[in-house]
Amino acid sequence: MAAIKTIGILTSGGDAPGMNAAIRSVTRSAIFSGFNVKGIYRGYKGLIDNDIVEFKTQNVSNIIQQGGTILKTARCKEFTTVEGRQRAYEVIKQQGIDALVVIGGDGSLTGARQFASEFDFPIIGLPGTIDNDLFGTDHTIGYDTALNTIMWCVDRIRDTATSHERLFFIEVMGRNAGFLALNGAIASGAEAAIIPEISTEVDQLAELIQNGFRKSKNSSIVLVAESPITGGAMGLAERVRKEYPEYDVRVTILGHLQRGGSPTAQDRILASRMGAAAVDALLEGQRNVMIGDDDEQIVYVPFSKAIKNEKPIDRGLLETLRRLSI
Ligand code: ADP
Repeated sequence: MAAIKTIGILTSGGDAPGMNAAIRSVTRSAIFSGFNVKGIYRGYKGLIDNDIVEFKTQNVSNIIQQGGTILKTARCKEFTTVEGRQRAYEVIKQQGIDALVVIGGDGSLTGARQFASEFDFPIIGLPGTIDNDLFGTDHTIGYDTALNTIMWCVDRIRDTATSHERLFFIEVMGRNAGFLALNGAIASGAEAAIIPEISTEVDQLAELIQNGFRKSKNSSIVLVAESPITGGAMGLAERVRKEYPEYDVRVTILGHLQRGGSPTAQDRILASRMGAAAVDALLEGQRNVMIGDDDEQIVYVPFSKAIKNEKPIDRGLLETLRRLSI
């Protein structure tokens, strides 16, 4: 393998708070180790369109506290085609980029894996998604911030829920993973979480109603993961209106506000550690791995493992939630 001189960096797919901290860390760690850095705008789309600029340390000044991504992000259909990826490879050669750091979620790392194997090109992935659904890392960049945002929102909804004696379904993001719903429920003292991981095993709504909402309470808050597997908050509310009309049910969908905001200390630190680790990985000759965090230790997770495996939810947390909502 030819020596790596220039590292390209991009953010792709859904944005997540802390991506900027990661961009800053990769850029500065790379420059510290003597590499050149090129910032690629709008993910794989910018790669194909040659939307690329040289990054110096100043390009990443004053961004650690900002949500979103200064490199912008995009979804790119063209990159899912052989021709699109071929074009991306030509741009990479033309720009003199020798390795890529891709910050994104499951889809972005799937694209990275495909590209890396087709062109025998070194790529290091950083898990950037609020969903926390990548296997091989305890946490993804953005997850903690989104969790805190959810907690903040639920606290406010609880005030009004209590005043009106209602049942609230609050829908949170997470795609097909229940991490945000389950941990958000615990953090905000919600009565229950309805998550895709166990939707096929039990009828969580029926169980919830049968167990009876806490008798001593006059309102209930249930967090629902957005997945079609759970039916989403709207679907569940419909069911309650039909099957349990005695409940006065309301729905709040938190939506994109979960994606925004200044990253928490935890996300900034995680992103900074992972960004530095991405450069270390390249220095060590690693390629086609995602940087993971396993019990506070940095680990290298092959793309094939990170994207193909379902990350299990801690079922002990479900039990904790159940106990705390009596
Ligand atoms: P996320 O990274 O947040 O999961 P997406 O699933 O939208 O977001 O993926 C981001 C981009 O990654 C897609 O727009 C596409 O360009 C690329 N991508 C996703 N899956 C593939 C694939 N199987 N092959 C090539 N590129 C892919």
